[in-house]
Amino acid sequence: SWLEDNSVVVTGAGSGLGRAIVRRFVEEGAQVVAFDKSEDKLHDLKDKLGDTVETVAGDVRSTADNDRACARAVEAFGKLDTFIGNAGLWDFNRSLPDTPAEQLASGFDELFGVNVKGYVLGVKAALPALRASRGSVVLTLSNAAFYPGGGGPLYVASKHAGVGLVKQLAYELAPEVRVNGVAPGGMDTDLRGPAALGLSDTAIGEVIPINDLMAQGSALRIAPQPEDYVGAYVLLAAKAQSVTVTGSVFDVSSFGILPRFNG
Ligand code: NAD
Repeated sequence: SWLEDNSVVVTGAGSGLGRAIVRRFVEEGAQVVAFDKSEDKLHDLKDKLGDTVETVAGDVRSTADNDRACARAVEAFGKLDTFIGNAGLWDFNRSLPDTPAEQLASGFDELFGVNVKGYVLGVKAALPALRASRGSVVLTLSNAAFYPGGGGPLYVASKHAGVGLVKQLAYELAPEVRVNGVAPGGMDTDLRGPAALGLSDTAIGEVIPINDLMAQGSALRIAPQPEDYVGAYVLLAAKAQSVTVTGSVFDVSSFGILPRFNG
């Protein structure tokens, strides 16, 4: 298998896409540290996957928590080959006109704190071990990293910022460490929004009929589940499969292709 004995940290690993990444990476032979802020989700994950997975509860906005997650991988598995930044918040398409001015600054800080600062701090924490292993970074971006309408200005700007991080970090960390992104499209997960915008109590699927929208409105007419997006992560993390790949964002959303009217 492609990831035999790879040591991996996944952030936002408790549900949705992160959880699907953990499951698949374990199937591919990897040893995984699952890092999430939700202890309940991590307990459930450990119940299902057992000793193949180490769990770390913490906040990706914290330097100390990122350090703990990466240190755990090195302690438990002897090295770190791949850091996957994935924890994210959505803004539920809250537009600038519809955002009350008194929520805007705090909502921005909370969303960018997770979606952008969380990735910066995570890569910083992982870097010494990644240099030692000649490892790589994979960051979860989104259709919103390329196209408007997949969120409001806060989310879309945060995911565009992720493209900048991939390019700049690939440049700075070469030749030792490869840095790439994966941009999935919509899926029904537990994705939530900033408490500062009053968006922390509902999940994306409770508000938007996402499976129907994807099945009817996407070019390929499918409602992808989190596991359908995971192949790109396996490919990018597998050293032998991606030996030349850095600074690249794999757009697996299909959102660049409009649905055919008569398709
Ligand atoms: P999810 O909510 O199911 O998973 C995200 C996980 O991140 C949750 O388990 C949550 O507890 C954790 N998390 C949130 N804030 C955290 C913090 N501060 N510290 C640590 N953990 C934290 O949602 P998902 O849809 O699987 O999201 C994963 C990634 O996929 C995100 O980056 C998101 O932007 C991206 N994405 C999602 C969609 C979609 O439609 N669901 C589309 C494109 C991209």
